[in-house]
Amino acid sequence: MTVSHWWRSPSPPETSHDAVVVGAGICGIGVALALERRGLDVVLLDRAHPGAGASGRNAGFLMRGCAENYHAAIETYGRDRARELWRITEENLDALRAEGVADLPSYRAVPSCLLAYTDEEHAALRRSLDLLREDGFDAEWLDDHDDAAWRPASSTHRPRGALVNPHDASVNPVDLLRALTAKLRTPVRTNEEVDAIITSESVGHVRTAAHTYTAPRVFLCVNAYARLLAPALGALVRPTRGQMLALRAPGARLDMSYYANNGYEYFRQNTDGSIVVGGCRKRHAHTEVGYEDATTPEVQADLEAFARAVFGADIDVTARWSGVMGFSPDGVPLVGPVSLENGVLEPGSPVWLCAGFTGHGMSMAWRTAQLAVGAALDGAHNPFPIDRVHAHAPRTHEGAARG
Ligand SMILES: Cc1cc2nc3c(=O)[nH]c(=O)nc-3n(C[C@H](O)[C@H](O)[C@H](O)COP(=O)(O)OP(=O)(O)OC[C@H]3O[C@@H](n4cnc5c(N)ncnc54)[C@H](O)[C@@H]3O)c2cc1C
Repeated sequence: MTVSHWWRSPSPPETSHDAVVVGAGICGIGVALALERRGLDVVLLDRAHPGAGASGRNAGFLMRGCAENYHAAIETYGRDRARELWRITEENLDALRAEGVADLPSYRAVPSCLLAYTDEEHAALRRSLDLLREDGFDAEWLDDHDDAAWRPASSTHRPRGALVNPHDASVNPVDLLRALTAKLRTPVRTNEEVDAIITSESVGHVRTAAHTYTAPRVFLCVNAYARLLAPALGALVRPTRGQMLALRAPGARLDMSYYANNGYEYFRQNTDGSIVVGGCRKRHAHTEVGYEDATTPEVQADLEAFARAVFGADIDVTARWSGVMGFSPDGVPLVGPVSLENGVLEPGSPVWLCAGFTGHGMSMAWRTAQLAVGAALDGAHNPFPIDRVHAHAPRTHEGAARG
């Protein structure tokens, strides 16, 4: 007698791999590529497509440093950690250049210029300049009488001075993500949303609607979205919205990418002459949180007012957009084995978090991804351990690029 099993719903297929990476932003692609280059069998999943998150929606600054200026970073993190962080962001750009970013048509080797509009910021940036040089970093200074430097600034919005990172660059982030994705041996599995990660006996089972992927190592690179997969991770990564616009300004020619007001506002020029302007979230910090990826009239009006102050009244806004960033409690990434139940460091957990880039992921996530793979597989130095968040009282970070 044959028995029919037609009434049983088939369980989704389960496959085993060396590693599973969740999230195909710049971080997840970096982790997957580093693993592939070690000869491992890797699955990279995204609920949408590569660059669907912040990595495809940002300003494209490839900038040295983090949300703080160097002086403030030393006060916040200590000198050794600040120096290490600055080095990592330099290495990030070096590593992207090694992947050919400089060959992309939208790439510009333009310095970043941190503008000081107030006496307070002037003093902090001046101090940063000295500290950077003491620590062996190249840095330059522009005075307020340096007319050539202020080409973008109208007379009503003239800075008092500026710190310049001479070796920075910028790129269209969508171009960059496309180029990096093309380097993967195994295509990204798009439209595969992970709805659960179950750990058992040092193995992670990563579940989507259609499939379960099992591996001894799971890298969680979903940044702002970590909390949606495991609520306890909300204590580590906080979703924070950034808004931008693109414009045309007749005659504008920017030889640098600009940071203003401690990074709360930022603007740069593309190779096609268009200019992108972002920020203005400080006055609207209470609304610029959560997962709603949409522009608001209030922030966009402030962005336009800022753009007119810099470029004059005759600007033509051509596009507006937003993106959701993942802010960590202290503004610096979080890397390490994590408990999905408690959101704390769990040595031996198969799930490694790599997230919390706080508005600077294009400038640090690529190198951080390589370091995370080294730490996970070889036990190499991890500059961004998770337990620091619990060792020190976390403070709310409202830091720059600042998105
Ligand atoms: C407006 C704005 C301007 C910015 N400007 C700059 C800048 O100029 N320079 C700079 O360095 N940084 C900038 N940033 C920050 C930078 O974009 C981010 O730090 C960086 O992109 C984070 O990369 P990520 O790979 O960690 O996360 P994301 O790019 O957000 O990638 C996460 C991925 O995970 C996927 N995902 C989420 N949940 C799931 C799930 N359950 N299953 C499967 N997949 C999932 C998403 O689809 C997404 O593709 C800016 C950000 C914004 C929003």
